Amino acid sequence: VSDTFDVVVIGAGAIGLASAYRIARDGRSVAVVEAGPLGRESSWAGGGILSPIHPYAYPEALTDMVARSTRLFPDLARELFDISGVSIELRTTGLLRLALDESDEPEIAQAAAFRSARKLPAAGLDARDRRALGSVIAEEARASLYESEIAQVRNPRLLRALVQATTRLGVHLAPHEPVLELTRRGDRVTGVRTSRRELSSDEVVLAAGAWSGELARRALGLELGVVPVRGQMLLLENVPGTLSTMVLGCGGKYLIPRADGRVLVGSTLENVGFDKRTTLAGIRTLLDAALRLAPGLASAQLAMAWAGLRPATPDRLPYVGRVPGVEGLVLATGHYRNGLVLTPITAEVVSNLVSGRPAGFDLSPFAALRAPARPASD
Ligand SMILES: Cc1cc2nc3c(=O)[nH]c(=O)nc-3n(C[C@H](O)[C@H](O)[C@H](O)COP(=O)(O)OP(=O)(O)OC[C@H]3O[C@@H](n4cnc5c(N)ncnc54)[C@H](O)[C@@H]3O)c2cc1C
Repeated sequence: VSDTFDVVVIGAGAIGLASAYRIARDGRSVAVVEAGPLGRESSWAGGGILSPIHPYAYPEALTDMVARSTRLFPDLARELFDISGVSIELRTTGLLRLALDESDEPEIAQAAAFRSARKLPAAGLDARDRRALGSVIAEEARASLYESEIAQVRNPRLLRALVQATTRLGVHLAPHEPVLELTRRGDRVTGVRTSRRELSSDEVVLAAGAWSGELARRALGLELGVVPVRGQMLLLENVPGTLSTMVLGCGGKYLIPRADGRVLVGSTLENVGFDKRTTLAGIRTLLDAALRLAPGLASAQLAMAWAGLRPATPDRLPYVGRVPGVEGLVLATGHYRNGLVLTPITAEVVSNLVSGRPAGFDLSPFAALRAPARPASD
């Protein structure tokens, strides 16, 4: 393999792999360099809900970007299936918001106002309609809101499909090869130095998830302020009864039913550095919420618990675009809680930029050197 490429992507998460896929489809040569195994960090650990948990907590620029991205998912799912034979299980299961006590009621009111302003479907359901969405769901609720168009993907399958599709397109995938620094000539980034070799390229895409902050500081002296926010997750199996919708409540905890009948429970938000361990307290918080939202889950089995590190920026909006004064570099990182839903649009923007095409929409809210704003409370 030659060590010269049109584009080198740092990080084989959903963002890096999907970007590489789009760039390769344009006929350009791409390498993806990954510190660990392919696609096993945040993008694997996440839930795959194709909506922010609290969309109303974000500026319109982010919710617009989400809307653009969700529109791209059906075509991406089809293409990936055609090339790889892997279904990413894109399914419109809807999202049921439940307020079991007073503290969750304001969230339902905010979600309802957000949706009515955008003319999105939103229905308050009575107990019988809720039960039709799942026999395990709590019978009593103070309020509910059903968001019928919200979809999900099975993110580990998305990663598998992307690995296979990029391989088919001739992308050079290099796992277990951490990037140590970016090589530069003056103001231009010219490639990367890894643990094993030097790769040179016209463009480098920084898509290193929660690790992007450290890498940008070390390699470029650029302060992005990207930090890890841990999220713990549970997987339940042998679920007794039905659950056909995603359910959200109890302070932002959620249930995600997969096509095979298993149910994910998420998630915690913890500032504990680069620590991916699960804890008893985290697992208990998730189990308590799961059993309140869906008491019928009590005899299900706990199959697995894990945690992932969300890449959080100071204002919780991603960095997508070029850095003023640095040529040959595109940032695609800091997607926090929304990196899976934002994967298709991010990949599209990245491929546009490295091919010299216009981004497609205004990237200034996602610029590297934007003015600090109050963080979205999501
Ligand atoms: C519990 C949980 C639930 C979530 N639920 C959802 C959800 O429902 N919907 C949604 O849209 N989003 C969700 N997210 C957020 C989403 O998972 C992330 O925003 C997204 O995965 C970020 O993708 P990424 O490719 O940037 O990061 P990652 O998947 O973390 O990939 C970055 C990669 O870069 C590699 N890397 C790091 N440093 C280097 C280096 N020096 N050299 C080479 N490679 C390097 C890492 O090893 C890693 O593989 C969730 C996250 C968590 C943790």
